[in-house]
Amino acid sequence: MVNYKDLGLVNTRDMFAKAVKGGYAIPAFNFNTMEQMQAIVQAAVETKSPVIMQVSKGARNYANATILRYMAQGAVEYAKELGCANPQIVLHLDHGDSFELCKNCIDMGFSSVMIDGSSLPYDENVALTKKVVDYAHQYDVTVEGELGVLAGVEDEVVAAESHYTKPEEVEDFVSKTGVDSLAISIGTSHGAHKFTPEQCTLVNGVLVPPPLAFDVLAEIEKKLPGFPIVLHGSSSVPQDEVATINQFGGKLEAAIGIPEEQLRQAAKSAVCKINIDSDSRLAMTAAVRKVFAEKPAEFDPRKYLGPARDNMKKMYEHKIINVLGSNDKL
Ligand SMILES: [Zn+2]
Repeated sequence: MVNYKDLGLVNTRDMFAKAVKGGYAIPAFNFNTMEQMQAIVQAAVETKSPVIMQVSKGARNYANATILRYMAQGAVEYAKELGCANPQIVLHLDHGDSFELCKNCIDMGFSSVMIDGSSLPYDENVALTKKVVDYAHQYDVTVEGELGVLAGVEDEVVAAESHYTKPEEVEDFVSKTGVDSLAISIGTSHGAHKFTPEQCTLVNGVLVPPPLAFDVLAEIEKKLPGFPIVLHGSSSVPQDEVATINQFGGKLEAAIGIPEEQLRQAAKSAVCKINIDSDSRLAMTAAVRKVFAEKPAEFDPRKYLGPARDNMKKMYEHKIINVLGSNDKL
């Protein structure tokens, strides 16, 4: 049993309380490679932002759970080395799908876990979430639950269609489970293909997706004043990165994300954690493809993973400063 506090990590409690009050959101960036971790830490330190580094079940399978935990511990030390005296870094399990997986993460030093029972019948979601909360709170680990279903693909999480969170359920769910934050479904979606072109409107040659259901968000906020709300699937799928990928041999068709103005608006509300994964994948892939196309003789991984790291860092900083507003909060 390793406690996250001994690793220099923090849970989400104070971070979220400040974010809700301050009208900004904490970035939750997924990671499974060293370059992503370095880029996240560099961006967070340079912008003086708290940050959630999150690991999905797929990331654990890819990179190994123990290695990722040590990388998070390394992230704290790296942040200090870069000059940040008190880094606020959370190591979070994204989309935990069983009590055992959540317990395993808590036991190995995670400071926060998500238990995603959103695909279960309501009562089973309540029971599973409560079981995780009861275990996690013994160690002061914070827990994110979910109500409502997002469309899209994220690792093993696949849903063909979304169901908005029902505002009439949120109070009951939070009081019965004791969760510290709640992921909701208001129209965001996992992956880089969040909407089909048919769902979008063509405005000045650009496909604009349907707006998020801010009315549902407002109703949820009314039921749970000041309670931390989480948005999954909130990449914007920058079209310049998509264009770079396609220019240099890629084939990403109709990749569409959530417009940043909408996320900016959400960040000002009780939404205090915004999950971004696909944008990092796109930034990495665009940079690697560019090097491969322009310097076909290059075979030193540092020469293409280095530019990939720089491009991700630029994206992370942009999100922190221009979308979430979590800069200068340390
Ligand atoms: Zn998600």
